[in-house]
Amino acid sequence: DSTLKQTLVDAIRNIPDYPKPGVMFRDITTLLGNARAFRRAVDELVHPYTGGKVDKVAGIEARGFIIGGAMAHQLSSGFVPIRKKGKLPHDTVSIAYSLEYGVDEMEMHRDAIVPGEKVILVDDLIATGGTAEGAVKLLQQMGADIVGACFIIDLPELGGRKKLEALGVNVRTLIA
Ligand code: IMP
Repeated sequence: DSTLKQTLVDAIRNIPDYPKPGVMFRDITTLLGNARAFRRAVDELVHPYTGGKVDKVAGIEARGFIIGGAMAHQLSSGFVPIRKKGKLPHDTVSIAYSLEYGVDEMEMHRDAIVPGEKVILVDDLIATGGTAEGAVKLLQQMGADIVGACFIIDLPELGGRKKLEALGVNVRTLIA
């Protein structure tokens, strides 16, 4: 509803020219620090999944860990971190994904998902969708049944949502 959206919009700080000139950075640390906005965002993200069983919430480093941890607690699910290359200590699977300029790699533990488990993917924001697309492919490689991908913020003009939907993923975002 519009009051929820307004609560979230008001709680997000906009930083012009960060990390480089011409970019408007959406800073969610102010939302995380606002008890009511943080709770309402997490409640809204988990809402469609509270009736059914979700085995794991997979969060993308780093802000996806914060939101995903809260969601996993509320859904009584496990949490799986999807991390930048070289951060996880045990056997990993990795995938290259595209950034605005160039490529990077993300990883998860090979034993983090049992094939067939129901998984929700989460991050704070989807822009071009390159990051989330990499995470989706990694989870699919592991045999995850991705029941949805959630983001607080969508930047629709960058096309990320469509990219995930083309992979057959149900996308849920709270504000654009
Ligand atoms: P994408 O791969 O182009 O969709 O970019 C999404 C990734 O970049 C996510 O992990 C976001 O956390 C991060 N990101 C890009 N722009 C912003 C922003 O304005 N605020 C916060 N995170 C951002």
